[in-house]
Amino acid sequence: MYEFLLNNSEKNIVREALSFIINDVSPDLIRSMDKEEIVFPKEFIKLAGEKNLLGLRFPREYGGRGVSWVCETAVIEEFGVLGFTLNCLYSMSSIVGEPLYVFGTKEQKEKYLKPMLKGELCGFEAITEPSTGSDVFGGTQTRAEKKGNYYVLNGQKRFVVGGLGADFFITYAVTNPEASNPKDRLSAFIVERDHGVKVAAVYGTLGTRGGGTARIVFKDTKVPEENLLGELNKGYRVFNRMMIPERMTSAAGAIGTAVASLEIAVRYSSKRRAFGQPIRRFQGVSFKIADMITKIDASRGLVYQAAKAADEFIDSNYPLVRRLVSEAKSFATEAAWEAVNNAIQILGGIGYTTVYPLERLLRDTRLGLIWTGTNEIMRVIIQHEIYKEILDPNYSKYRRNIEADALGADMAEEKYF
Ligand SMILES: Cc1cc2nc3c(=O)[nH]c(=O)nc-3n(C[C@H](O)[C@H](O)[C@H](O)COP(=O)(O)OP(=O)(O)OC[C@H]3O[C@@H](n4cnc5c(N)ncnc54)[C@H](O)[C@@H]3O)c2cc1C
Repeated sequence: MYEFLLNNSEKNIVREALSFIINDVSPDLIRSMDKEEIVFPKEFIKLAGEKNLLGLRFPREYGGRGVSWVCETAVIEEFGVLGFTLNCLYSMSSIVGEPLYVFGTKEQKEKYLKPMLKGELCGFEAITEPSTGSDVFGGTQTRAEKKGNYYVLNGQKRFVVGGLGADFFITYAVTNPEASNPKDRLSAFIVERDHGVKVAAVYGTLGTRGGGTARIVFKDTKVPEENLLGELNKGYRVFNRMMIPERMTSAAGAIGTAVASLEIAVRYSSKRRAFGQPIRRFQGVSFKIADMITKIDASRGLVYQAAKAADEFIDSNYPLVRRLVSEAKSFATEAAWEAVNNAIQILGGIGYTTVYPLERLLRDTRLGLIWTGTNEIMRVIIQHEIYKEILDPNYSKYRRNIEADALGADMAEEKYF
């Protein structure tokens, strides 16, 4: 982690988290989750809450520690060594906490945010539907109709981590079907399992197991009107804000997973011998290590830059933060996927077996390219923001006209578009 970016009290918080990661999470838990003997380990979340490690960014009055995005990122990087599921379960208080903290009423903060940060309530997110994952605003079909003091929800959400096990969900439903702009179709809701959420299917997954990933169904689910989160028909505001921690935690966790594979590969290649010497003496091996750490550090450069931007500009320059976060998420998850692949190559055949955890990490990291917004969607966002920025007339006011430096700059008629 980039310790030099943290002040002393932040360093201490990261050390507390490290102590939890090293001493309080047993290998048995990770193995049992991978075998799906344990699905949704509530005890892990509860213990993290008891140790005051959940939702570190939120103010102390709600149970957080008031740290910066940079500090939270450093902690989540460390949680990444535990693999994607535990990192996701840990990070969910940051992801779900964000809309509760920013848009929640006083009562919603008391009822959901505070107990969640204590580890007493587990809040997860139910966004993806069978008909759409990427096109949330245009494709969501779940409907919420106002009836008296309730919204009645009908629809379904799939691939929901905590679908089996969570106490409540932040979800989105169509409240304005006639809206001309898809952005104005949805509202956000806090739906408790006890409001009437049915589990329709539990998925077997390539990796990231043990999180209770399920399809859940709302059938005439009566949600009290006070559980509308944010303004009616302004679900996109809630969603956009929620996607910052959603993607930051994916990115930071991916760094931790990549570091775990690097550590294994460095140790193994120093001991394993071939042709009379440790295999690290072969450039084909040691240059892979060099590439791994270079890309890990490049990921850190982007991820911590995005975290710093979130600290400074999340309210004043959302497009910049959104672009940096999207770059961080796509780059870090791809670097992690490559790092784990390289580590397996360095270990040779034994890397492909369950003797080492690399095969699990490989299965986990594949998801990084898909969830929390696919890496194609990250690129859609990145290109959108950078075109907008550079084509803005104000942009050129502060930039040198470099096209005038060309030898043929006077051949204006040749610039044919
Ligand atoms: C194990 C697991 C856990 C998950 N956890 C959760 C969770 O807790 N809560 C939740 O709500 N969701 C969760 N998801 C869902 C996940 O976020 C979605 O799967 C993801 O956003 C993609 O949506 P989709 O699967 O519907 O694919 P689609 O949106 O159908 O996309 C299919 C393909 O088309 C591409 N594509 C779509 N639009 C474009 C475009 N404009 N430009 C270029 N390419 C495009 C996509 O990149 C992708 O390659 C989880 C998924 C998995 C597998």
